[in-house]
Amino acid sequence: MTPVLVINSGSSSFKYQLLDMDTERTLASGLVERIGEPIGVARHTVHATPVDAGEGSPTFLDATRTRELPIPDHTAGFAVMLDAFASHGPSLADTPPVAVGHRVVHGGARFFEPTLITPLVEINIDELSVLAPLHNPANLAGIVAARTAFPEVPHVAVFDTAFHQTLSPAAYTYAIDTEIAASHRIRRYGFHGTSHKFVSEAAAAFLGRPLGELKQIVFHLGNGASVTAIDGGRSIDTSMGFTPLEGLVMGTRSGDIDPAVLFQLERRAGMSVDDLDDLLNKRSGLLGLAGSNDLRDIRAAMERGEPRALLAFEVYVHRLRAYAGAYLAQLGGADVISFTAGVGENAPRVRAEALGTLGFAGVEIDHERNESAERGIRVISTDASAVTVLVVPTDEELEIARQTLSVARP
Ligand code: ADP
Repeated sequence: MTPVLVINSGSSSFKYQLLDMDTERTLASGLVERIGEPIGVARHTVHATPVDAGEGSPTFLDATRTRELPIPDHTAGFAVMLDAFASHGPSLADTPPVAVGHRVVHGGARFFEPTLITPLVEINIDELSVLAPLHNPANLAGIVAARTAFPEVPHVAVFDTAFHQTLSPAAYTYAIDTEIAASHRIRRYGFHGTSHKFVSEAAAAFLGRPLGELKQIVFHLGNGASVTAIDGGRSIDTSMGFTPLEGLVMGTRSGDIDPAVLFQLERRAGMSVDDLDDLLNKRSGLLGLAGSNDLRDIRAAMERGEPRALLAFEVYVHRLRAYAGAYLAQLGGADVISFTAGVGENAPRVRAEALGTLGFAGVEIDHERNESAERGIRVISTDASAVTVLVVPTDEELEIARQTLSVARP
């Protein structure tokens, strides 16, 4: 058994997953949330395996336990997590993790690969909080708490931005005054890199084709959404930019917008920078257009014939089509187009509409395959389609665990 613990830490919560990297199976996972509130919540799930179920036992159900108690900070949260492992298993005393992997949102221009965490790396992650003020401090709080809980094992940082460090200057440079840009590190960084890397590699493996020979487009459509053009395994363009706000229409984010809209709202509507930040990040996208950030609600409202839901859907897929076309042009055609995350994996109509006009570029969706409720990685294009279109369930925790192990045990 080679257990690796993966930590994804936010400001008032963290998720964890323990994976056995011999089999790449999840042994346990959990969520500690409402840290710092009067009552916190900790949920721990032990994932069933045929071995767990034991001989003669017919049950293969995962077992989840929930506790409610005050959790003042991340260190206290880790103590609650360790308690859950001790009480409900698997025992970390018997099989301690060989390494701990941490999701870190922003690696700036400094981190382009998974990195062993040292005091200097912690200082660098902290310093990058200038670029990710909500995320990096929260990621660091998780790292500090985890290093206290597991002082003996290597800890590895896996950055959301790292996969996009292969972007060329032409792709990452904004056309603004270069001195201003340089002094404030204003450029495109890209996010969701762990997922884009995982999906593009899974797609190549599934098709039995060398990654280095494939031109790929990956649509990661979750609550946050981004699309990446990948040439031979290297990200060459991606829709998120300086922050995750740029690009596609998302659950609550506007994606691309003329920046002059902000000048106008500041001058004419008296909105402050914080108001505008809140508007574009938290009250826009599907939520702003149709009153819900969840595509399932939009779909239900469309069935009721609600015009604002119909418009929201049209705006959403219009943007997807624009990026599909742009990235076909940047790559000079594609071999594979993949869809992943909550919307990408579960919304056939989004997939069909996003690619519906690309017959001229050799993209042909098979509607029966696209509508199929089958799970797992699968082809949704026709056999005659020049471009293979896939649905690929993403697994960011597994990717973090793989990268962590590659550093901890090179
Ligand atoms: P996150 O970005 O929070 O990790 P996910 O990848 O889990 O998000 O995606 C969440 C979103 O996926 C939901 O807000 C919803 O819009 C969409 N989604 C989830 N399940 C379905 C479904 N069965 N049909 C359509 N959309 C879905």
